[in-house]
Amino acid sequence: FKICQRGKNSLVKQINKVAVIGSGVMGSGIAAHLANVGIPTLLLDIVPKELTEEEKNKGLTLDDRVVRNRIVETNRQKLLKQKPAPLMAKENIELIEVGNLEDDLDRLKEVDWIIEVVVENLQVKKSVFEKVDQYRKKGTIVSSNTSGISIHGMAEGRSEDFKKHFLGTHFFNPPRYLKLLEIIPTKDTSEEVIQYMKTFCEDVLGKGVVIAKDTPNFIANRIGTYGLLVTLEEMKKGGYSVGEVDSVTGPIIGRPKSATFRTLDVVGIDTFVHVANNVYEHVDGEEKEIFATPKLLKDMVDRGWLGAKSGQGFYLKK
Ligand code: NAD
Repeated sequence: FKICQRGKNSLVKQINKVAVIGSGVMGSGIAAHLANVGIPTLLLDIVPKELTEEEKNKGLTLDDRVVRNRIVETNRQKLLKQKPAPLMAKENIELIEVGNLEDDLDRLKEVDWIIEVVVENLQVKKSVFEKVDQYRKKGTIVSSNTSGISIHGMAEGRSEDFKKHFLGTHFFNPPRYLKLLEIIPTKDTSEEVIQYMKTFCEDVLGKGVVIAKDTPNFIANRIGTYGLLVTLEEMKKGGYSVGEVDSVTGPIIGRPKSATFRTLDVVGIDTFVHVANNVYEHVDGEEKEIFATPKLLKDMVDRGWLGAKSGQGFYLKK
């Protein structure tokens, strides 16, 4: 990636290897996109708290490495089955190594960019960054894929070197196919890091980068969340069905097949609820009413209808 080579005294190191923390819908998709452009990636997740029946029958324990890496390995394997395909070639999966955040923290020293892609929750993200700050080598770029939590807030309490190298890199789902990437610097992010990441993400990852302000849900999700919540409200008032709304908001108006509710299933209903809350917590009056989570979505989350990832959302996954 000579394109992004920096000078001797540069604050920024060349990105040759990346760690992605969180291997769910987005983390595994981002790892696949990195592998597609030839970047070795370490994909990490949490360790399971219970054994599966199959693991018990094999006599495995919670201390066995194969069990400790089960969540991340299962998510990595899903990359081979998902449609549209996250991997440009099946062999690209070889560039994605798996690990877990308890056993492999030391391995963060191997990488030049760490991307946090865990659940949309400030406290969980902050606890991940606390560990990252302790184990990363100085100069490593760190970013969050949050859909809209304050980037500045996430860096509170971190070291000066971390803050200089920290920013939001908001990929869109699915990362292989959607070109947009929002980069969200804080007032502490070094200008050199911002420019390097913009160039890297455009030239190496093939993204169209927009620099966004660190406001709740940044640009695309602020507008997108609003649009979806208003659509749900109008659908209820008008007595329309999910199928009717999707049929008039998809290919017929030039959008991909995944129209309104199909997109929501791909995003994940639980994730969407968190993302709507990001704004809800920061607005007042009429806007608060708009961004309040509709009962329908709360009920879906309670039932475990989380969208494509759980097999049932607005649609049943075939
Ligand atoms: P997800 O629920 O599919 O996956 C989250 C993963 O994080 C899970 O595998 C979970 O085990 C793991 N995790 C949880 N706590 C962890 C910890 N402490 N350490 C390591 N791993 C941990 O969620 P997702 O949809 O991939 O979303 C992840 C992030 O990306 C969120 O911040 C979300 O807002 C953002 N995002 C999501 C979308 C989307 O369409 N789903 C799009 C853009 C951004």
